[in-house]
Amino acid sequence: MAIKVLRLNEFRCTCCNYLLAKLNMQIGIMETKCPKCKTINRIETIKDKTKIDGQ
Ligand SMILES: [Zn+2]
Repeated sequence: MAIKVLRLNEFRCTCCNYLLAKLNMQIGIMETKCPKCKTINRIETIKDKTKIDGQ
């Protein structure tokens, strides 16, 4: 039996640290509104490097 480990990136609200999503994608841009504090978070994933610009 094999156990597969998927690398999931956790994206948290830049304001209140609420867990917005867990994604496994290489390239993508997404905007999501935090249900807790209503901050709009912009999620960008870039190949080789994953970062969230908190500002
Ligand atoms: Zn929030």
